[in-house]
Amino acid sequence: MSDSEGCVFCRIASGDAQADVVHATDHVVAFRDTNPKAPVHVLLIPREHIPSLRFIGEEHAGMLADLMVSAAHVARAEGLENRGWRLVTNVGADGGQTVPHLHFHLLGGRRMGWPPG
Ligand code: AMP
Ligand code: ZN
Repeated sequence: MSDSEGCVFCRIASGDAQADVVHATDHVVAFRDTNPKAPVHVLLIPREHIPSLRFIGEEHAGMLADLMVSAAHVARAEGLENRGWRLVTNVGADGGQTVPHLHFHLLGGRRMGWPPG
């Protein structure tokens, strides 16, 4: 996928930029958000540059399965299993997306509100 040049999350995935990585697989990297919105705030990204869920296709099914399994693994490792947690991805302007590389926010350690703002 194009537009990966200068992408901060591509740089984290390749190891060119520093991040507090908590989990990594062939397809996915998970690292702590530098501006956390909850006591636990981990971002899960594909190694491949995909701008958002808008650009997902059948060929990404394996990566997405890996990402979901990774999210559950990280939640368990962070001690959230019994309390609960939230996994969310923002898509585009109305979704509130600010970094144009697909990422899922894993949030936990406090009670979440609903509906989201
Ligand atoms: P979104 O608004 O859904 O696009 O989320 C982007 C998230 O990326 C925000 O929560 C930022 O705090 C986080 N973020 C931006 N740059 C970095 C970085 N270099 N390392 C870790 N988290 C980052
Ligand atoms: Zn990227």
